[in-house]
Amino acid sequence: MTPDRSEALFARACAVTPGGVNSPVRAFHAVGGTPRFIRSASGAWLTDVDGQAYVDLVGSWGPMLLGHAHPEVMAAVGDALTRGTSYGAPTEPEVELAEEIVGRTPVEQVRFVSSGTEATMSAIRLARGFTGRDVVVKFAGCYHGHVDALLASAGSGLTTFAVPGTPGVPESATALTRVLPYNDREAVTALFAELGDRIACLITEAAAGNMGVVPPEPGFNQFLAETCAAHGALFVSDEVMTGFRVSRQGQWGLDGAQEGWTPDLMTFGKVMGGGFPAAAFGGRSDVMGRLSPDGPVYQAGTLSGNPIATTAGLATLRLATDDVYAHLRAVGDTIKDGAATALADAGVPHTVQSAGTMFSVFFAEGPVRDFTDAQRQDTAAFAAFFHAMLDRGVYLPPAAYEAWFVSAAHDDRAVQTVLDALPAAARAAATAREGTHG
Ligand SMILES: *Cc1c(COP(=O)(O)O)cnc(C)c1O
Repeated sequence: MTPDRSEALFARACAVTPGGVNSPVRAFHAVGGTPRFIRSASGAWLTDVDGQAYVDLVGSWGPMLLGHAHPEVMAAVGDALTRGTSYGAPTEPEVELAEEIVGRTPVEQVRFVSSGTEATMSAIRLARGFTGRDVVVKFAGCYHGHVDALLASAGSGLTTFAVPGTPGVPESATALTRVLPYNDREAVTALFAELGDRIACLITEAAAGNMGVVPPEPGFNQFLAETCAAHGALFVSDEVMTGFRVSRQGQWGLDGAQEGWTPDLMTFGKVMGGGFPAAAFGGRSDVMGRLSPDGPVYQAGTLSGNPIATTAGLATLRLATDDVYAHLRAVGDTIKDGAATALADAGVPHTVQSAGTMFSVFFAEGPVRDFTDAQRQDTAAFAAFFHAMLDRGVYLPPAAYEAWFVSAAHDDRAVQTVLDALPAAARAAATAREGTHG
């Protein structure tokens, strides 16, 4: 079907908004073609403005754990809306959501913000304020939102110095950032040996999901926590994507709960907002106690803890039971197996990787341990695969470096739609490879 109405809207959007979108990956630049404008969503399905339905494997990039328009979440939001939408004063849902997060995760105190970017930005400010140190360490391929200091790439050669990842970020903003290869213990040890007493914090995705899914190798996060502790630096675990997505507690619940270590600070977003703009950072109460108004480290937000967003987040977390995670795991396994089989049958090099219920398909031989490995992907093959899936009613993330997300609402019909689409999409990927590699 020609996406006539999407095309018309995209033309209008491009006139009034840069690239026609409000977040770059939505523009389909990585795969070509016209982005679909979505009119509505329900359960596992999206419907675009041309009336075409798609099984959604993006889930708003992670938040829609329960599926779209979940009746109980909608009822809670509808009820909250009748009481107004924002007061700039504290409310009960904020306290309840904070209690829910403190109850599920190792954080002792939590503060709400409106986006994951704000959460990581505030966490590193707090880490710097608490330690009185300046240097921040991150890993190449980990994404923490568009914070200046974290939009840094590894410099050339063997140096660990960071360079701005985009025009508009001054060198001074990344001068105190160091970027290391993910899953590389030796690089971490070497940097801390050199700079340990200047490092305020190390921030890492609890399991990398923004270069495709690259799980931490066994014990890696614990090693990071211990290395930070040994040098008086804070360990900041960014669970904006993994938190309440890969388990009731996030990745920490998968690889940390039994091991006797905890992050000093954690960041959350996506699932905890229930589809609204809400995020959080939290951690040790002695660290969180340094925040204003009790402490000297300034941080604030007009819409922070918004009553509608916190109501939606609370309803979502309360409905996210162990059964939900078991369902996500089963559905994810079926789709992963289907994708691996289809790509193998078509002769397309690929690797399927997961962290808990989060997974992605790399169009390259694996294993993928870090960003350098991830960049070996055949993005042309992915683009052909993506469009063949889209034509068959499956909405994948429109870029090769993204996790695929399922929800509690992905039932047999939705899963079967995905499985039915995979063989032809894998053959399209194989044909695209012949074009570029033949
Ligand atoms: C999405 C994401 C962010 C940024 O969150 P926004 O709400 O888009 O600002 C930060 N960290 C991780 C790990 C993410 O996946």
